Amino acid sequence: EFTNISLKDIDQLANSSFPLCMRHLFNKLRDDHHLKHGGRMQLGLFLKGVGLKLEDALAFWRAEFSQKIGSERFDKEYAYAVRHNYGKEGKRTDYTPYSCQKIISVNPSVGDHHGCPYRHFSEENLRAALAKMGVAGHAMDDVMDKVKNRHYQVACTMTFEAVHAASCDAGINHPNQYFAQSRKLLE
Ligand code: SF4
Repeated sequence: EFTNISLKDIDQLANSSFPLCMRHLFNKLRDDHHLKHGGRMQLGLFLKGVGLKLEDALAFWRAEFSQKIGSERFDKEYAYAVRHNYGKEGKRTDYTPYSCQKIISVNPSVGDHHGCPYRHFSEENLRAALAKMGVAGHAMDDVMDKVKNRHYQVACTMTFEAVHAASCDAGINHPNQYFAQSRKLLE
């Protein structure tokens, strides 16, 4: 049910329809022109899941990484992993995007940007990130309340509802589901 997305739309889509975990990775990649392994996996498989084609994925990662390390080093050291995620290298497994449960359960180290912001951000950073998405007032209080009680996916669902001004009865359990539900409302 996922549509193909094209590179020229990716910033607009990130801004309107990515869940916070992916928005954070996307922005970090744009700012730092680099992501560590865990972030590359989490964001890379998500992008594959939303329909970014392999050629576009290579162009996307190359455009960022080459600003820091040059395109030759990208092609040598990182392109393989992008193709690998698409099942084009190694055992040719077609890797599936991570679920919320999996993302929430990781333990990111310093300098990592993967994981679930509801679980892994400080309260201050989470509030700032939510405010940037347009969450405010009661909605902010409700989301932070769920976070305090460790109901991270419920907090994400409430964020979805606040940002889209629509209910999400199914609840969020997968970043790609968040994206698909968002597109359904916005397209
Ligand atoms: Fe991402 Fe799921 Fe966390 Fe939402 S609850 S930010 S979709 S991992």
